Amino acid sequence: MSNSSLTDTQKTQLSKLEKRLRRYVGQAIAEYNMIEDGDKVMVCLSGGKDSYALLSILMLLKESAPIHFELVAVNLDQKQPGFPEHILPNYLQELGVEYHIIEEDTYAIVKDKIPEGKTTCSLCSRLRRAVLYKTAKNLGATKIALGHHRDDMIETLMLNMFYGGKMKSMPAKLVSDNSEHVVIRPLAFCKESELIQYGELKQFPIIPCNLCGSQPNLQRQNIKRMLNDWNEQFPGRIESMFTAMRNVVPSHLCDSQLFNFKEINSDSGVVNGGDIAFDQENFTDNSQISEDSEAKKHKFVDGLVDIIEVK
Ligand code: SF4
Repeated sequence: MSNSSLTDTQKTQLSKLEKRLRRYVGQAIAEYNMIEDGDKVMVCLSGGKDSYALLSILMLLKESAPIHFELVAVNLDQKQPGFPEHILPNYLQELGVEYHIIEEDTYAIVKDKIPEGKTTCSLCSRLRRAVLYKTAKNLGATKIALGHHRDDMIETLMLNMFYGGKMKSMPAKLVSDNSEHVVIRPLAFCKESELIQYGELKQFPIIPCNLCGSQPNLQRQNIKRMLNDWNEQFPGRIESMFTAMRNVVPSHLCDSQLFNFKEINSDSGVVNGGDIAFDQENFTDNSQISEDSEAKKHKFVDGLVDIIEVK
């Protein structure tokens, strides 16, 4: 946990990375109004790199935030065989944050209910959620913070599109299944690659999630691999996909619940730029369309329209 074993170069890297992650988390908190004055935020710690990073960055933000909020770290010991019980209490004690270790043998329930050889993650996660919601209520927490990041959100979008027939992802902020809690994902704008690097530099005492012997979600692993291969071949695609998730144009999709296509007629005027869905060749390499290139595109199209009309 101490960074005294780092070289000077690593210390500089850590400092820059930490500032960047702080900025991303601060932006997400502000954009979705995730944390408000007086909140008690329960940070769910699994022992993985993401939740350690979440707690670490929230603690830094708490020191400098213009509002007052409390943090309480919670880990659920699910009684998986070989779970190293001492690691999190030691770490949290040294960190000086309020924490609670909740013991609940969900492992036994999962083993009992799921036939041998089948994936257990789905039931395990549902049980974990139920225990965490109950804990949040007992602790009087007003927000529950989870450590999912940008890449988790993109993978979930792809999974839902490929296997669920839905265009939906993990929300940055939502109301819990039992409608009693507000769940937030302050790492929504953070890249997994940077969280991995942060975890290494901070030397978090990582606890693996597969102590139960289950195969962690294989479909998700496949999607992750596909996205990474794609991103290697065409750099900037993951960045662009996340930009797209924050830039949805319902009038140019097909969901009649989201956009009232029936009411469109020739008096409606041009909706969201009209029919320019195929003007891809004007996009810049990383698909970040600058105002300048957008203006040039329109000028070019307007020019073509003029020529056609003159003819
Ligand atoms: S790998 Fe094991 S502990 Fe982790 S979510 Fe799946 S079933 Fe639960």
